Amino acid sequence: MIKLTNENTENAVKRCKQLKPKVRFIADRTFAVESANNGNVYNVRFDVKDGEKLGQCECRASERGLICYHIVAAATANIYRQTVKLQAAMTAAPYFKPNRPKAEMIGRIRVN
Ligand SMILES: [Zn+2]
Repeated sequence: MIKLTNENTENAVKRCKQLKPKVRFIADRTFAVESANNGNVYNVRFDVKDGEKLGQCECRASERGLICYHIVAAATANIYRQTVKLQAAMTAAPYFKPNRPKAEMIGRIRVN
């Protein structure tokens, strides 16, 4: 898995905004992202180890250790999903206030 930082995701964020790939939720922290170029579908997985955010895609770029736009697209969907889950939890238990929401996978990505 590749460590996700603001620096190494910058180009992939730009590509993702241009291409707007389709993302489908598969399982917790796992998403399928459709390639904007050839219709291939790549599975993207996320993990957190020692406070570091990690991501992995099945495409060639990711195999070479690069952050691809599939990872960014899936991260955006993951942030949205975690935010919705958190809001549901807070509605169910109004006194539950976590110190730091899990939702901040990558601070610079905005879900419109
Ligand atoms: Zn990829």
